[in-house]
Amino acid sequence: MRTIFTADLIYSMDRFASNQAILVNNGKIEDIGTKDELLAKYNGIQVKSFKGKAIVPGTINAHNHSFQSLLRGIAIDRPFLEWRSEALYRYTPLFDEEAIYTGALLAFGEMLKYGVTTVSDFFYIHHDGTAYDEAVIQAAKDLGIRFVLARTMYDWDGAPVAYRESIENAVERTRYLAKKYQGDPMVTIHPAPHSPHAASPEMIQAGHRLAVELDTPFHIHVAEEMFEVEETLQKYGHRPVHYLDSLGVVDDRMIAIHLVWLEDSEISLLGERQASLAYCPSSNMFLADGVTRIPDLLQEGVRISLGTDGGCSNNRISVFEEMRMCALLQKVTRLDGTCITANQVYQMGTKMGGEILRLPIGSLEKGYCADFVTLDLNDLSLSPKTELFANMVYSLQPNAICDVIVDGKIVKENGKLITVPENEIVKKVDELFDKLKSI
Ligand SMILES: [Zn+2]
Repeated sequence: MRTIFTADLIYSMDRFASNQAILVNNGKIEDIGTKDELLAKYNGIQVKSFKGKAIVPGTINAHNHSFQSLLRGIAIDRPFLEWRSEALYRYTPLFDEEAIYTGALLAFGEMLKYGVTTVSDFFYIHHDGTAYDEAVIQAAKDLGIRFVLARTMYDWDGAPVAYRESIENAVERTRYLAKKYQGDPMVTIHPAPHSPHAASPEMIQAGHRLAVELDTPFHIHVAEEMFEVEETLQKYGHRPVHYLDSLGVVDDRMIAIHLVWLEDSEISLLGERQASLAYCPSSNMFLADGVTRIPDLLQEGVRISLGTDGGCSNNRISVFEEMRMCALLQKVTRLDGTCITANQVYQMGTKMGGEILRLPIGSLEKGYCADFVTLDLNDLSLSPKTELFANMVYSLQPNAICDVIVDGKIVKENGKLITVPENEIVKKVDELFDKLKSI
């Protein structure tokens, strides 16, 4: 069905313009132009007007672990490895399919509320099958968020058994899901060998081969903590990026997550190969990982998107927030307020995220997905409106986000989720923890 969306302002082609309208047909932006022009051209079509609001592209969360929203607040203020065993490894074996579905509803529901219209979920609790993956996909579908399953391939035997698979099974199951959802505009499957420390060299290469076969990117955690660099040096005689290069997987399909501990030669190699990064600044701060060298990576041509990471290592879950955090962290680390701009971090959270995930999202242009957010122009956090762009990036508060449209459908209206109401999600989380208490 065709609908014309109008608002006081629309952000398109790097600027806010007034009196604009968007024609949406079948989930895609079919036309964009002035209100008068579109209303005359498409006479008689349903019009949805957002008065006192601005329409801006939805944000792209390039890295998350949805079930970790259930662990939020547990084992806080601890060293990474301690948090990993106290929160992650302790609780995840207790989660059944229903719990995983509930965790995904909590994560994706909160994201939608805060303006995320596409999320890439790096999911690794497979229990030797695909039913748990399907539970996460179902939650995304029920809420109406656009979804990329970065299906993890994990064979390190130090982790809970629920994460682990043989190479053969990991490849077969990821391929099965990719084929099943082929052609579904709301669901995409990417292989995701976990990391150099949790996937064997053969598993990493199998993940890369599968990405070539499916013609998709692949996701991998790289050099988040210093111990990972020491480990790859000790085990393979190389730093992480050089080690991955020795496996033949550093190329334009690679979406590396974190890239905190890099040397110059690794940064230039990533640029040469047109690899990309899913950067999670809040999580890196929360876990005291370190500071990724964003201006250097940009300088070398590495493409950068933003991720919230799991809800228990952030602990907010908004990409608008990550834009601000990215800029602030880089500026204070370099003691240089000019080392990164509002526009750069905004692009990372929107269009660049779409480019890296290879989806037509993150921008309001003809042919792009109709994924957008309305902002309340009377919200104090956006004033003065003369500096609306800067204020959207640096001072916006979540309550300024009013409506969220994904694939042309309204999923949040006037501040409230309408696909799965918030109180239903909270009730499911409460019930889950009541059940866990008795275990
Ligand atoms: Zn992660």
